Amino acid sequence: MKYYIITFGCQMNKSDSERIASILEEKGYKLTSKINEADLIVVNMCSVRQSAVDRVYGLIPKFKELKAKTILTGCILKKDRPKFAKGFDQIIKFKDLLKYQPKRQNKLVAYVPISNGCNNFCTYCVVPFTRGPLVCKEHQEILKEVKDVVNKGFKEIWLLGQNVNDYTSPGDASINFPKLLKMVNDVPGGFQIRFTSPNPKNFSDELIEVMASSEKIAKFLNLPVQSGDNEILKKMRRPYTIEQYKNLVKKIRQKIPNINLSTDVIVGFPGETKEQFENTVKLFKEIKFNIAYIAKYSPRPGTAALEMPDNIPLEEKKQREKCLENLLSS
Ligand code: SF4
Repeated sequence: MKYYIITFGCQMNKSDSERIASILEEKGYKLTSKINEADLIVVNMCSVRQSAVDRVYGLIPKFKELKAKTILTGCILKKDRPKFAKGFDQIIKFKDLLKYQPKRQNKLVAYVPISNGCNNFCTYCVVPFTRGPLVCKEHQEILKEVKDVVNKGFKEIWLLGQNVNDYTSPGDASINFPKLLKMVNDVPGGFQIRFTSPNPKNFSDELIEVMASSEKIAKFLNLPVQSGDNEILKKMRRPYTIEQYKNLVKKIRQKIPNINLSTDVIVGFPGETKEQFENTVKLFKEIKFNIAYIAKYSPRPGTAALEMPDNIPLEEKKQREKCLENLLSS
């Protein structure tokens, strides 16, 4: 019996797909690279924006032409389930995925999840609804997985979590993210460490110190700001101000002058005025991010922001997105 996995979304989903592959192979399935040969197709979906959900809807007619049984899994919103149930043979939540050894797809890069879920409930975000509350892995298990991939010759290790700063080892509350990062750095071997996604709200001096003093930690950091305006940050329930964010970036650059800094930002959040958007433009001009992942606000079912009128026209969202892209490339 052959299986084929289609993965949408973030690195966490890619890592989950590697573990789903492991579960299927334990059941005797073999991976195929040809979808027409598959007896089982698993779609590991993302719901972070409506466009991601629409892409999965778009697959359904194609599956009708194939012999394979189809399973939908991943970040699925309750609201979308009934319609997906008509298009897929099964909708499954694979339990305890973090307990399975992954079938790693890349020979050099290894994804090592340190936690799953999130307790922050930023008003635009579906993650707490699709992945549930924050669950952290024991630090010993994480270190065991790191040593295993280092011994297997992987050269880049990504520590993954929806919000890595909130990490605490279940068995030892003194082991927070900076301490875990230091432990991973102290694992013997020639490899580099990257991590995603941190949150500016509790990005500590201790973490900056560990990043600056650990030779294996790559000088790359994605620090999601989401907006350059304090009023909008408040409506997003992002618990920091732009002054605090800028001060954090200043501290990071003082300790790690050659840091490659990227960010996530949403344009066209409900009620975002031209003046408020101008504050995001000002921030981009001041910080000069190396890269930015710019998203047009997409109202998500179940989130608090859904109650707010999505009153920025799509054309205006596109213009704001373009404006930031131009700034990045200038
Ligand atoms: S911290 Fe990140 S994952 Fe958690 S709710 Fe906010 S945006 Fe979503």
